[in-house]
Amino acid sequence: MTRKLIAGNWKMNGSLADNEALLRAVLAGLPATPTADVAVCVPAPYLAQVQALCQGTALAWGAQDVSAHERGAYTGEVSAAMLRDFGCRYVIVGHSERRQYHGETDEAVAAKAQRALAAGITPIVCVGETEAQRNAGQTEAVVKRQLAAVIHTVGHCVSEIVVAYEPVWAIGTGRTATPEQAQAVHAVLRAQLRAATPSERRVRILYGGSMNAANAAALLAQPDIDGGLIGGASLKAEDFLRIVAAA
Ligand code: PGA
Repeated sequence: MTRKLIAGNWKMNGSLADNEALLRAVLAGLPATPTADVAVCVPAPYLAQVQALCQGTALAWGAQDVSAHERGAYTGEVSAAMLRDFGCRYVIVGHSERRQYHGETDEAVAAKAQRALAAGITPIVCVGETEAQRNAGQTEAVVKRQLAAVIHTVGHCVSEIVVAYEPVWAIGTGRTATPEQAQAVHAVLRAQLRAATPSERRVRILYGGSMNAANAAALLAQPDIDGGLIGGASLKAEDFLRIVAAA
């Protein structure tokens, strides 16, 4: 079994003062050698602050998006090499909020994952169906299509990625997938990874979508759930630490 990964996704929240208080509280509550890997994915302007506070601790950090391009005339974009300059171990790619509000296609998400890998940063590739897609019986087809684009682009390097299954209807809604619903999709993704690489056991498949201190243990007990991508509950140190303790 790989070590579990609990990754916070702060989204567009925080301030210098709030971040410092949150990180100090998380660092104070983390065991010196946690049994799971723990990370926070923060807004890009705060990477330097997070690096300064977390360097040398058990808390890793990352970003929430990366450019699909290497460098150059892409105003507003942040490259993988820039994220590496600030010590990022992870970067979220293809979060449903970026697919939905920024028109990111499967191909763009795959290109971002490849840029991250080339820079030595682990992409956390998000996949997940909308409520309408689930009701139409398309869940499996949707997540497989999203992951297939990444496998197609990164090839054997797929063993180096992290996948996050995030049903869109569960994100920020308080409507968590049941452990059985999540496990069923994780098993589909696991089988797809197995067909793509002999090293599929290295690939952690996180669940995301209203995971909290109360439901984390049951989700994380499922055989193919290797961690969590935590939005709202990562903004409160106590909640985040309780999820880490459940992993
Ligand atoms: P949530 O967000 O935990 O607030 O549902 C998860 C995510 O969007 O990564």
